[in-house]
Amino acid sequence: MRRTLYADVHEDYRQTVREFFAREVEPHYLQWEADRLIDRSVFRSAAKQGIYALSVPEEYGGAGERDYRFRMVVNEEAARVGATSFNMTLGLQDDLVLSYLLDLTTDEQRDRWLVPFAEGEAIGALAMTEPGTGSDLQGIRTSARRDGDGAESDWILNGQKTFISSAHSADLVIVAARTNPDAGSRGFSLFVVEAEMPGFTRGRKLEKVGLHAQDTGELYFQDVRVPAANLLGTEGQGLIYLMSHLPHERLGLIAAGITAARAVYTETARYCFERTAFGQPIGDFQHTRFELAEMETELDVAEAYVDRCVEAFNAGDLTPTEAAKGKWYVTELQKRITDRCLQLHGGYGYMQEYPVARAFADGRVQTIYGGTTEIMKELIGREIAKRNRS
Ligand SMILES: Cc1cc2nc3c(=O)[nH]c(=O)nc-3n(C[C@H](O)[C@H](O)[C@H](O)COP(=O)(O)OP(=O)(O)OC[C@H]3O[C@@H](n4cnc5c(N)ncnc54)[C@H](O)[C@@H]3O)c2cc1C
Repeated sequence: MRRTLYADVHEDYRQTVREFFAREVEPHYLQWEADRLIDRSVFRSAAKQGIYALSVPEEYGGAGERDYRFRMVVNEEAARVGATSFNMTLGLQDDLVLSYLLDLTTDEQRDRWLVPFAEGEAIGALAMTEPGTGSDLQGIRTSARRDGDGAESDWILNGQKTFISSAHSADLVIVAARTNPDAGSRGFSLFVVEAEMPGFTRGRKLEKVGLHAQDTGELYFQDVRVPAANLLGTEGQGLIYLMSHLPHERLGLIAAGITAARAVYTETARYCFERTAFGQPIGDFQHTRFELAEMETELDVAEAYVDRCVEAFNAGDLTPTEAAKGKWYVTELQKRITDRCLQLHGGYGYMQEYPVARAFADGRVQTIYGGTTEIMKELIGREIAKRNRS
């Protein structure tokens, strides 16, 4: 079926992105994976090309582009070359950190924080998860209390976060903390913690199954003095902000999921007609043909939903439930497809040098972070119950 998502301007942009990946990412990518870190200079080049921090307004040196189709193009081009860790780091900035910074900051905060993003000099992180709580965000124990009475008083932040993407490379971290233990869901706030603040330290860089080039780690806050000017949005609204930004975060994971699944499938279909067994291409076995037919059908159907999500997001009406449906469905599909594609590669599929092996390891987390499949179904189920219970 002809896809109608893109206009000429997106296809022109694709050319720029493709050339950028060929020139600045592909030649270095395996080294970044080995180093467990992406070379920071690539973010500067990506910013210059309008690939990093695309949404930062022009007055701060960015492109001011919030049309999500450009982000889809970046996802597709990253998936083509298997640069998943890099893509997820771009997504962390554009779909998460910047989404908060653009929506919740004062003019003074924008002046301080946005320019370095537009220049590719700043990397951000978002710290919600703690050792004792992930899915259940109301269990957050990291706390902040005012050091004084007035609204201008500093905050003193204490606690620990884990599994934080870009934990070691981040220059600023948006931290979710409890600010009023008696206020229930209205007792949380968001703070921007900057790298040099005394008492802020980074713990272990965690060894993951995949996404090796992206640094994921622990963060510690011990009596960190956070100025009132680093409170993000309104005190007590933290959980509401986290919830309201989830559709954007989940769209990022949906985009990464469908494009990675499509890329691994495309490569596998090609492989099936190159590899022979019993005197014929393995693609000529009926079982293989059925595998390919099923996968391509599922991808086409899911892609139509994803394209609708992108359009809905651009129109400002992608609902949390629609995003949750896409998140669990597409990431579970990605998992199934990657597993089947690995099987079709036989033993080669288990070798790191084959893209399918890396896609298998990199993709496994997709059904976990950004809200697990089970939590997505809970959210959808709750909405169904609300609609049907009179
Ligand atoms: C590579 C990676 C990067 C990450 N990056 C970040 C980041 O940048 N920032 C950040 O804040 N976090 C990050 N996370 C954390 C991630 O969001 C959490 O791991 C995720 O939300 C799940 O939380 P948990 O690990 O505590 O699992 P738990 O909440 O302990 O869940 C364990 C199991 O129980 C199930 N479960 C829990 N509650 C229910 C329920 N009500 N009904 C049914 N089943 C349930 C879950 O679905 C899961 O299967 C990252 C994680 C990974 C692995």
